[in-house]
Amino acid sequence: MENQVYRIVEDQGVSYLEFKILDPYKDYIRHGITLRYGGVSPSPYNSLNFRLGGKDSKENVMENVKRICDRLHIPKEQLYKARQAHTDHVLVIHSKNKEKYAYGVFNEELADGYIVKEKGIATMVTTADCNPIILYDPVTQVVANIHSGWKGTIKQIYLKAIELLKQEFSVQPENLIVCIGPSIRKCCFSSEEESFKEKFTQVFENPEKYITYEEENQKRFHIDLIYVITQDLLNVGVKRENIAVADICTRCHHDEFFSYRYALQNHEKDYGLMATIVGLLPF
Ligand SMILES: [Zn+2]
Repeated sequence: MENQVYRIVEDQGVSYLEFKILDPYKDYIRHGITLRYGGVSPSPYNSLNFRLGGKDSKENVMENVKRICDRLHIPKEQLYKARQAHTDHVLVIHSKNKEKYAYGVFNEELADGYIVKEKGIATMVTTADCNPIILYDPVTQVVANIHSGWKGTIKQIYLKAIELLKQEFSVQPENLIVCIGPSIRKCCFSSEEESFKEKFTQVFENPEKYITYEEENQKRFHIDLIYVITQDLLNVGVKRENIAVADICTRCHHDEFFSYRYALQNHEKDYGLMATIVGLLPF
């Protein structure tokens, strides 16, 4: 499968999405966003599940990690992650602190974004409807890997990451390449709760641009998270032509990607998570 923005790579049954906008930097950065295929986890985690702490076994998840890391040519020992909790906390991971975040090792630190400058370090964000966002600066060769669901979006975690990139690594936003992976889109992200709508309108201007109402039920509204994220990025100086959005709704495509909302609505007993892995070469 291929379109202008991304291609789906299938390697011995394991599938992942990669962004074409990062093709010119293949000697510097490696990335992949997983589909559900090619793992060992049973239903409802079938099969390439990255959710530790659910009812799927740790052995299954670690085997899934090994499989995707092998395909991406990233040593799984160089993969790092903290506990995601819909925060706006962004960690800089480097050789002096990385062991704390070794994947599969329990740590209590909560974070939903990682910045890496040192080569040979990879990070992982897990999602099921939330937005995985990769920010890469080819000039300074710094990369960020961000988990931004609706809560993280309201907290504008991606702007916190850009602020850190500017302050700590002298990144200029106009050089940033931003990739937004598959996530729940406005077709499926809906509610009837006024208080829910207000969470967005208190933060983001021009609600008529990102909130639409259903014709047959005027109480039910849909929110376009991609619009608000993109607008925020443009406002801080990211160039529109440097923003790549994979045009895939995870809930609509729940057979191919994990969708929390689909699992909930379909009364499945649990849900799985997909992974966005980004690493700087060489390993
Ligand atoms: Zn949808």
